[in-house]
Amino acid sequence: MLRFAPSPTGDMHIGNLRVALFNYIVSKQKDEDLIIRIEDTDKQRNIESKDKEILDILELFGIEYSQVIYQSENVRFHSAMALQLIHDKKAFSCFCSTEWLESKREEAKINKKPYRYDDACANLPDELVIDNLNPFTIRINRPTKNIIIKDHIKGDVSFKPEDVDSFIIMRQDKTPTYNFACAVDDMLSDISLVIRGEDHMSNTPKQDHIRTSLNYDKKIQYAHLPIILNDDGKKMSKRDNASSVKWLLEDGFLPEAISNYLILMGNKPPKEIFSVKEAIEWLSLDNISKSPARFDINMLRHINNEHLKLLDAKELSRYVGFADAEIGELAKIYLEEASTTKELKSKIEPIFAQKVIPDEFAEQSAQISQIIKDAPYFEQYSDFKSYIMKESGLKGKNFFKPLRIILTGGEHGPDIAIIYKYIKNYIGEIIK
Ligand code: GLU
Repeated sequence: MLRFAPSPTGDMHIGNLRVALFNYIVSKQKDEDLIIRIEDTDKQRNIESKDKEILDILELFGIEYSQVIYQSENVRFHSAMALQLIHDKKAFSCFCSTEWLESKREEAKINKKPYRYDDACANLPDELVIDNLNPFTIRINRPTKNIIIKDHIKGDVSFKPEDVDSFIIMRQDKTPTYNFACAVDDMLSDISLVIRGEDHMSNTPKQDHIRTSLNYDKKIQYAHLPIILNDDGKKMSKRDNASSVKWLLEDGFLPEAISNYLILMGNKPPKEIFSVKEAIEWLSLDNISKSPARFDINMLRHINNEHLKLLDAKELSRYVGFADAEIGELAKIYLEEASTTKELKSKIEPIFAQKVIPDEFAEQSAQISQIIKDAPYFEQYSDFKSYIMKESGLKGKNFFKPLRIILTGGEHGPDIAIIYKYIKNYIGEIIK
């Protein structure tokens, strides 16, 4: 069983979508189920309806799953297991106040040392614990030996006991911390492989330690995907528009192109343009580079352009707001100079809109428009052109410029003879 475990705390980041895609592909390769676990235990950070938005995005990207689990529904298991750990003396109640811990943390900072819990409550006598009415957290005992995580991408990574520390697993308000909820849920769902972002690497020994302490002897495998950097070499954050899947979609990038690019990054695919279905046949975690991947919007634009070319004319037509295949064919011509559906729309819409004619061509445009309105239908552009030229007596720039403007709304663009092929049946709508 594999899982994708998003937190409903903001717009879906491309890094998360990449994790979801990899989980989906590997689940198909291994013929195991993929579950979605909405990690909603941090009530303060949850944003209403973000869970729904995440599931909608997964559907749009064709990421199928067998079940959706809300982590908050497992809190009773988290509590029960924390008590079990206390009972087994593998965890202890900690009565240290938040202020006290904060001052210790400050002290460590001033001394330029990493903060570690001083185990003040680790060995309290039972009588100090049992009737103690002060609020408490539950901490797990620090491990006694190094923890080695075998990672499909990073290789073997070793963590010292002090790096894991005796960390909190249940807060004072009786809610589980992220690491505890995550470790227990992965165990309860019988997860075999966790694929997630490398920002979680330091959590992994903690989660492994929790399960070992609970006597879970199955070793979960890991693959931590390298982070995605922006143009400045910094981690892609909310400040980078392109980090948001929603923004990319609204900006006219196709789901299939976004998927293609996210799978291609830091990878060695056999070809540049492919579908997720094809990637299922060859994707291997062993080929993923250990170093961070750099997000290149121009590469995504190129891939988007290629996927737009692959769409059939009717589909492309719908993306630019029309229904007929001919408009899709016309849009294909404009793929010479547009790479997103938004840019394509900005080329096609002016063809059907009221035209703005520059003063220098006002007279010729009016004359040509009138001739076209009264003209018969011409199958061939050459006949259409000759007819208007003859009727108007115009030629050269005085003919071609205004003709292009009244037919397309622009002064430049693809060859008008080619465009005519696809607009000849719409001349009445174009010249109003
Ligand atoms: N909820 C975490 C996140 O959104 C993912 C946790 C995990 O995959 O283990 O980053």
